[in-house]
Amino acid sequence: MNNKVYLIDVTNRDGVQTSRILLPKLSKTMLNIYLDEMGIYQSEIGFPTLKHEVNYINANLELAKAGAIKRLHLEGWCRAIAEDVELSVKNCPDIKHLNISMSTSEIMLRGKFQGKKTWKDVLKTVSEAVTRAKDLGIETVGLNAEDASRTELDKLIEFVSVGKESGADRFRYCDTLGADDPITIYERIKALSLAARFPIEMHCHNDLGMGEAVSVAGAQGAIEAGVDAYINTTINGYGERAGNCDLVSTILALKFSHGLKDKLPLDEHVDLKKSWKMARYASYAFNLPIPINQPGVGANAFAHESGIHADGALKDRRSYELYDPEDVGRGEPDLLETGRVITTGAYGGIKGFRYVYSKLGIEFHDDNEARNILELVQYANLHTQKPLTDDELKLIAKYPEIVRMILTVNP
Ligand SMILES: [Zn+2]
Repeated sequence: MNNKVYLIDVTNRDGVQTSRILLPKLSKTMLNIYLDEMGIYQSEIGFPTLKHEVNYINANLELAKAGAIKRLHLEGWCRAIAEDVELSVKNCPDIKHLNISMSTSEIMLRGKFQGKKTWKDVLKTVSEAVTRAKDLGIETVGLNAEDASRTELDKLIEFVSVGKESGADRFRYCDTLGADDPITIYERIKALSLAARFPIEMHCHNDLGMGEAVSVAGAQGAIEAGVDAYINTTINGYGERAGNCDLVSTILALKFSHGLKDKLPLDEHVDLKKSWKMARYASYAFNLPIPINQPGVGANAFAHESGIHADGALKDRRSYELYDPEDVGRGEPDLLETGRVITTGAYGGIKGFRYVYSKLGIEFHDDNEARNILELVQYANLHTQKPLTDDELKLIAKYPEIVRMILTVNP
């Protein structure tokens, strides 16, 4: 163990399963590419047991093989039962990382299983699921305890040790209802880590507005106990109900908080400067605005107006700013075309298409290739239902067959 904090982004699983928001598969793919560029350790890319995710997941695994995704671990989520693990591997034979989930709290077990499963049955089921995953060649298995924050510590320790003995690689502590507070979670995670000596993931929700606070406090407990900590995040905090622990805020907390910056060593691959691009793309793809007061990436994150603040910030920015706009990748002017615009999309033709791509520095060898890519662009635009971004257009031209797989959904 390196005794560091790593980030696992779950936007493409927990974020997209949220009520009333959704994301096209091409946009999910772009998020994976951007998460990789940002140095995030792992992306929970989706549900390998869900039919409409299968082509997208396999295509992203292809992108990793082709070098378009370099370090990011692409991980699938399913229930901690052997059948789900088997179906995941059957649908996505190249998947190497899985997080498998089982409820552990009394209230959930009683409600979900209606007295049909005892605690012993639960432990047996997860043990079988972990063993099956390892037998099927899964390299890292994260064992998730849903509603861990409302589960007795003794039970969690037992759950972790069963997972560990069966071959799991990490344990995910889910504060599913966002019920923990920083002091409680710190103490619980420290005690759990000391007892289990096992890498631990913090998966915290924001129902009390403390998603980041409890995540970093839990990570501190793990680090002090000498084990690796993994924090689950989502981009712009999108997620179930009040959302999840926000990616950018978490990095900011680990880098700039007085109490944490020297105590919690963050994975050195993480590049905070990619925050602005990431947050803006996610906002565009999800069709959800970034709140004006969002840490780091909100419109007001570096704005000063009141007399005392503006005067102070002008004399010394550190009077009122903890970090600089450049730290999160801001500061460049936003160029907006106000004259003639040529775009390409669902109803585009070959001339406009060639013009748009030549502006991106991309030329095609022959008419056949151009027409093939144009057709994909038409479908991609139909699929995302909004103008394609430069990076999306580049991806389509560079990996046409993989994009074709992403766009293919057969009900
Ligand atoms: Zn969750």
